[in-house]
Amino acid sequence: MTKKKDIKSALNVNKGIEQPSSVNDELIEKYKHVKIRPKSLDFLLKGIFDGNITQLSRAITLIESTLPEHQKLGQQIVEKCTPFSGKSFRIGITGVPGVGKSTFIEALGKHITSLHHKLAVLAVDPSSERSKGSILGDKTRMEELSTDPLCFIRPSPAAGSLGGVARKTRETIILCEAAGFDTIIVETVGVGQSETTVKSMVDFFLLLMLAGAGDELQGIKRGIMEMADMLVINKADGDNQKKAMLAKTEYQNALRLFPPTDSGWVPIVEVCSALTKSGINDVWQKISDYKSFTQDNKYFIQNRKNQLKRCMEDAINQVLIDKLYGNPSITVLLKDYEKSILSGNDTPYSAAQKILQAFYKIVTK
Ligand code: GDP
Repeated sequence: MTKKKDIKSALNVNKGIEQPSSVNDELIEKYKHVKIRPKSLDFLLKGIFDGNITQLSRAITLIESTLPEHQKLGQQIVEKCTPFSGKSFRIGITGVPGVGKSTFIEALGKHITSLHHKLAVLAVDPSSERSKGSILGDKTRMEELSTDPLCFIRPSPAAGSLGGVARKTRETIILCEAAGFDTIIVETVGVGQSETTVKSMVDFFLLLMLAGAGDELQGIKRGIMEMADMLVINKADGDNQKKAMLAKTEYQNALRLFPPTDSGWVPIVEVCSALTKSGINDVWQKISDYKSFTQDNKYFIQNRKNQLKRCMEDAINQVLIDKLYGNPSITVLLKDYEKSILSGNDTPYSAAQKILQAFYKIVTK
């Protein structure tokens, strides 16, 4: 006979037992090599044309991917979007770290969206490969703008050569335009490498500066100042206001000595405080004036055409460089010739010629 205390009721709560993992480790092991299939071309294109940010972001990720199948799909998307691109106003913004670029873009961006423009903010960051960081990568930057439904912010592609990053940015611009963004800001760090690249993909180029920091201190080369359609002296608030006004006059005088611009536009100097937002409306007004001015005198369209030509040249250069340096035989040759020029058996020029001859033989084989 079973004793009463041995009977186990279904209602009894037994001592806890260890719960199995909710994740099946065996399945993870089995499927870990299976790649998640990207969404189809039509699905992504429809999303982009509908202005769907999620699909736009997915498509940009494909462009930035190093996987050949992603790149192929990314290229197809770019091709399909190109006829619907080109209608935005593209603005390049540069300045040394700390000058207030993100604060300024947040203030200007909010002003732009308050005028019902759809704004995309992109970044070209040549330092990302080295530092593994990226401008716009820090989520705390541009807090207000990043939650604005009329704004899309995309951090810099993680790493790669400046040429590679530039290409991805150009293609990202195309996708953003196809998605209906009518104003694009491309931010870059003013450290002297990427300004020319950004200049070659925008309609208007703005250099953000500080008063009284001295050009050397700001690391700004004369060439970069020459490229600018507008200098904006930021942080013109508090005690700094007077200095900013003085700097404005100084820079205005300096700009008069520069050669005339291709656009016929006389570069201007503005002061603002990105923090208090004073002067931001004026900056936008002047940017808009530039747009009308260059559209009227046809420079706008001519510049776009020149940029297309440069884009093609850049694409060719990039492929050649990738093919040259990615070729295993050339890698070996490069090492050999490095030794031979260091030991004085070859000059750098003769070595370069021999390497290029070898490359030519490889590609024409
Ligand atoms: P970035 O590195 O060029 O993007 O510069 P940030 O936008 O991150 O700004 C660097 C620092 O300058 C931050 O502490 C900002 O709060 C400050 N800052 C930016 N704009 C202004 C401004 O107009 N006035 C003042 N006083 N500080 C500013």
